[in-house]
Order: sequence, then structure tokens, then C-alpha cells
Amino acid sequence: MGPAAPPGPWPPRSAYLHIPFCHRRCFYCDFAVVPLGDKADGASSGSIARYLEQLLAEIAAAPEGPPLSTVYVGGGTPSMLTPAQLGQLLAALRARFGLAPGAELSLEMDPASFDQVRLAGYLAAGVTRVSLGGQSFDDAVLERLGRRHRRADLLQAAAWLAAAQRRGDLASWSLDLIQGLPGQDLAAWDAQLAQAIAQGPPHLSVYDLIVEPGTVFERLERRGQLDLPDADLAADLMEHTGRRLAAAGYGHYEISNYAWPGHASRHNRVYWSGAGWWGFGLGATSAPWGERLARPRTREAYGAWLEQQRGAEGVAGATGPGAAAAAGEAAGEALAGMPFDERVLVGLRRREGVRLERLAAAAGLGAAELASLLERWRPYRERGLLRAEGGRWRLSDPEGLALSNAVLRELLEWWEERDGRDRPGD
Ligand code: SF4
Repeated sequence: MGPAAPPGPWPPRSAYLHIPFCHRRCFYCDFAVVPLGDKADGASSGSIARYLEQLLAEIAAAPEGPPLSTVYVGGGTPSMLTPAQLGQLLAALRARFGLAPGAELSLEMDPASFDQVRLAGYLAAGVTRVSLGGQSFDDAVLERLGRRHRRADLLQAAAWLAAAQRRGDLASWSLDLIQGLPGQDLAAWDAQLAQAIAQGPPHLSVYDLIVEPGTVFERLERRGQLDLPDADLAADLMEHTGRRLAAAGYGHYEISNYAWPGHASRHNRVYWSGAGWWGFGLGATSAPWGERLARPRTREAYGAWLEQQRGAEGVAGATGPGAAAAAGEAAGEALAGMPFDERVLVGLRRREGVRLERLAAAAGLGAAELASLLERWRPYRERGLLRAEGGRWRLSDPEGLALSNAVLRELLEWWEERDGRDRPGD
């Protein structure tokens, strides 16, 4: 059992759980995801099973808090989990915090990643709201986006969700669409909106395509192969969306979100209201007392972060009040008996980074020695993967963290060479 939470201005009543697995990475996506292949499933994947163990441990070690009013299981593709696996996660939240009566339990699902039996299992586990990642009703567009599902999968999934809502088994559901796609004009976009409205989702999320660094779309854009709408057309598309959805009875309650009366996402409102929330899992951000803490975005870094929380002060400490500022200091104290290289190694694996100069001084290293370590790291510093900010040295997220092994290997080699110099008799 984790420690009791100190009183805070915003006791969190919401939790976000990140499931990072997808079948494949879509061409526009830069989320914290782990592609496992088209056939992967929670029932057979050891990778998913191991991650769920980490997630359950992180939840179990969280500080106490009031019962949750909203839970959002996002990803990634959470519908790769079996209903039993999802049930385990919800049971862990129930055990740690409790669930308030009428709590909104949202699950992101992708077409072609579930069938009716699986949907029924999720509903039996307690899911009250589904967010369906449709994105487009056009097969050629879905293919160009690198999506795995096709129009027929989307229509089928939407029909199952609408039927579940009519039966009263599902309180609400949402459909995601992307606007501003390559080659999209007003007529094509209007046809997309018409098909979305026809499925009867009580909630629609309409996102603008953003070309993110490191994605396939970015490469295509650099080569001039992405025919994106210009600024005027993009503005027209957005304006048209608002008018079209308003005429269909959807209120525009947030920049990307539209809902029938009574169907706005309660969980989304938490993010915008300034209330706190718990976050669990790789890449998840938590803000339990208004102070944000983002977890590492790679599996290796997340595993190391969890280990470190266990070794230092418990995961609870990393999510409790003052965590973001205090975590590095606390770890430094807990690691006081370690040699310099290990303390730096542990510190650099943390998002908070490490006070390198302070550790060097404590270890009796001179300015020239510290300069020789920084020289060793010069290639990483020049690429912005490792940098000093606010008195701390940090690996950038995610590029630096992804290359953390190379940076840390340089550190260990530098330390061994230095150690050898110090002990000529060895
Ligand atoms: S399914 Fe969603 S999270 Fe997964 S790669 Fe595609 S856009 Fe990203």
C-alpha cells in the first residue's frame, strides 16, 4: 500500500492510463506507441503482459486519493487488451482509489481491433464510454494514413457501438475524424462529415492534421509529396465543420470536440478545468496536485524510471506533491553512497535530469575532469540530445532518451579510463 497523500488544493478524481501498443505506426503519428504487428493481441503478447504488470505495480504504489469520477484508458490501441486485462486495470484502480457512483470509464478503441464479443466483455468490465478512432470513411485515405482498418471496419464498429448505446449498455461514444488531410477539399470533407453524422455518435472529435517531426508524413512533406490544404482552405474546413455539426445538433464545447447535450466528455473537462489527475504508464502525464510530471516515452526508460522510483522513494513519491521538483534531490540523497558515474547514470535516466556540477564537486572532481566528460559528450550536446537547463543536465525527450544508452556508455567508459588513471598500480 502506498503512503497517504498530503492534502492538496486539487485532490485528483480522475485517472489516465496509457496503453502504448498498436499493430503498426500510422504515418502521421508521433505518440508514445510500441508497434507489435498486425496479428498481435493482449491474449498472446508477452510484451503486453509484461507492461501490464508494470502498470499494475505503478497503480498499486500510488498515494491514496478520493474515489475516481472519470477514468480514461488511451493509447496506442487499448482495444488490443482482452476484456480480462482491462478488468484487471479497472480493479486495480478500484482497489487503490475506489470508483465514484456513475463514474465515466472511457476506452479508446480502433475499428478492426475488436468484435462484438470483445465489446460486450469491455462493457461487462465497466466501460461506459468508447472513443472510436475512425479518422476517415475513405479507403484510399486510410491507406495513405497508414491505418490498418478500412471503411467497412469503421461502419461495422460504429454500428455495434450505436446498438450498445440504444440498448442502454453504453452511456455514450465518440468518433474521431481528421480534417485537413492531403488532397482534401471542401466537398470531400463535407462527405466525411455527412457519413460521420449518419452513424449517430453522440460525440465527435475532429482533429487537424499536424505534420510531426520524425513521422513518415514529415519525410513526404520535405520531398514535396504531401498536398496539404493551404491556410485559407484549412480555415474554411474548420468553419464548415462547426456549421455542419451545429446544424446536426452538436455543441462545440472545445476546439476539437463536439457533442450532443449531456454527452461532453467529463474526463476531457478535467484537463481543461485545472483539476488534478493521476497518470499511469509509459509516456503518461500526471498532475495530481496541479504539478505536471511526464513519464519517459520509451519502454526502456519507463522501466528504468519505475525501478528507480521503487529504489528511491516509491512510485508514490514520483506522483505526489512537489514530485517534479523534488524527485531529483530525493534520488540524489537515496543514492548518496554510489560512485559518481552511477549517480549520473541514474540521474540522466530521469526526466528531471541531474545536477552534474554539484555531483562532481561532491565527488571531488576538478573543473578539468568535468570538462573532459563534457567533451566526451560533445556529439550529443551538439545535436541537442543532452543539454543543461535550469542547472540540470537532461536528455531530450524522446530523441535523447532513445539514445540514452550511447550517452551512458560514453559516461561509463570515461569513468573507467579515469579510474584507471587514478589507480596506476591496478
Ligand atoms: S493507432 Fe493511433 S496511436 Fe496507434 S499509431 Fe495509429 S494514430 Fe498512433
